[in-house]
Amino acid sequence: MTPVAVALVHHPVVARDGSPMTASVTNLDLHDLARCVRTYALAALYVVHPYESQRMLAERILEHWVRGSGRERIPDRGEALETVRVVSDLDAARAHLGEGTAVWTTAARAHGAITEYAAARAALATRERPVLLCFGTGWGLSPELCERAELRLAPIRGAADYNHLSVRAACAITLDRLFG
Ligand code: SAM
Repeated sequence: MTPVAVALVHHPVVARDGSPMTASVTNLDLHDLARCVRTYALAALYVVHPYESQRMLAERILEHWVRGSGRERIPDRGEALETVRVVSDLDAARAHLGEGTAVWTTAARAHGAITEYAAARAALATRERPVLLCFGTGWGLSPELCERAELRLAPIRGAADYNHLSVRAACAITLDRLFG
């Protein structure tokens, strides 16, 4: 099957008022998304951040859990965090994942034409080029990024009109719908 990876995007994302912002790295996001990526045997989790100080923070988290005392205490957490690559932007993630990597985005609200999960799952079964599944931080991926994406996954819809999933929950649901 074609290589599929997840990108945890800290820029470009939007703030509550819709203005562009850059979100901070959150330790729990790295742990939970890495555990999702490892569980569904995806190629990697790319932590995308333009600021070197934030990339260094992410690298310190990885150092502890992949090569340090965290690994000794909880070995399988180190195995999950081994999937993580820290990069400055989406282009770096796409270049690392492979030639012609397509960007697929996720969002609680549609920004342009959307693809339902069943169709996206079917497309993955037959495609050649790698796919980078992008999840946002802050108040979501920038609309411009979503509009440029090759595919926009349909928003996950619950049983009511409340729609404020954490990136951790949204990633788990999305991966299970595509690979579970
Ligand atoms: N730190 C915040 C948190 O985890 O609550 C980040 C919020 S951010 C808006 C959540 C991200 O999860 C979105 O950018 C999107 O990638 C994904 N997401 C959230 N709700 C979703 C939904 N209903 N359908 C699809 N993806 C969703």
